Amino acid sequence: MKSSFKIFRAFGIPVELHISFLLLMLFIYVIAFLGIISVYIAFLITLLFVTVVVHELSHSYIAKRYGVKVGKIVLLPIGGVSAMEEIPKDPDKELKIAAAGPLANLLIAFACFIGLLIIGGVGSLTLESFFISNTPSADLSLFLANFLGVNLVLGLFNLLPAFPMDGGRVLRAFFAKRMSYSKATKAAASVGKQFAILMVILGIFFNFILILIAIFIYLGADQEYKNVMISSKLEGIKVRDIMTKDVNTLTPDTSVSEALNTMFKQRHMGYPVEDHGELAGIVTFDDISKIPENQRDTPIGNIMTKKLILANPEEPAMNTLEKITKNNIGRLPVIENGNLVGIISKTDIMRVLEVLDTKPLE
Ligand SMILES: [Zn+2]
Repeated sequence: MKSSFKIFRAFGIPVELHISFLLLMLFIYVIAFLGIISVYIAFLITLLFVTVVVHELSHSYIAKRYGVKVGKIVLLPIGGVSAMEEIPKDPDKELKIAAAGPLANLLIAFACFIGLLIIGGVGSLTLESFFISNTPSADLSLFLANFLGVNLVLGLFNLLPAFPMDGGRVLRAFFAKRMSYSKATKAAASVGKQFAILMVILGIFFNFILILIAIFIYLGADQEYKNVMISSKLEGIKVRDIMTKDVNTLTPDTSVSEALNTMFKQRHMGYPVEDHGELAGIVTFDDISKIPENQRDTPIGNIMTKKLILANPEEPAMNTLEKITKNNIGRLPVIENGNLVGIISKTDIMRVLEVLDTKPLE
């Protein structure tokens, strides 16, 4: 089943709604219909998500101008996600791409403020007007004030100087003008972590939601730092350099028990399956151990994975690691000119990282 549905295309970028997002919207309108929240609130929440799309599109628009390929934007209940190819490690470009999203929110907030000035609605507003409350209906000035508040919060929240927020990227770009990219990431991640600790302390005294956000920020900073460290260590290493070249293969008519024997003897956890010299699938110890003992005469052709994700010998090892992690698999067959030339596993890449770890970096 499709998990998201395309609604429109802007600057050539498809914008999709995830099924969980559609369910959330349905839920919001059902409780509005039942009178639990007002229709005005439901409408405002809808607009909030439109704002999120504008935010993501702003990142994507600038990214595209710098030649970064943008796959699509998917709207989830927690916000928007842009599927972008790796952002160039150029501080000026990264800074502009990262800042574009929050800037769009601040511009919308500013436009609302101008709107309020024009209709002369500022005088009737109190501080509460800027926070969304469950009012049954609203006039234009309350609406503008609400929308101003939402965008201001969204813009400022995303500018918090911590990964995975845009502000973390802005901060890294700022550091990267003065030092190497990996050092800049380290510095930005450490600011983010200190910031998270400060938020925990504030959270204890003021609001527990801050603690949840702090955890999210702390983990985000840690993840970003690890990713950048791994990618800088793997720089220049290709699949060909680290793959296993003499690949043992099995054929589809090999029985499960024969395959199991081979695995125990040769101590490999996964085998490509070749049918008359052509790669037909891959079978792993996991696949095989699921087969009950009394069915071990089944040919592996029946149980192997046929939908294969492949690697190319010239491909950067970091690329392969991303594929392996994203698809949660152990190994990829390496194909060159249609022939199986090797196999590369997560363990192969991890081993390289371990070896490099014993040498000091930079
Ligand atoms: Zn953003």
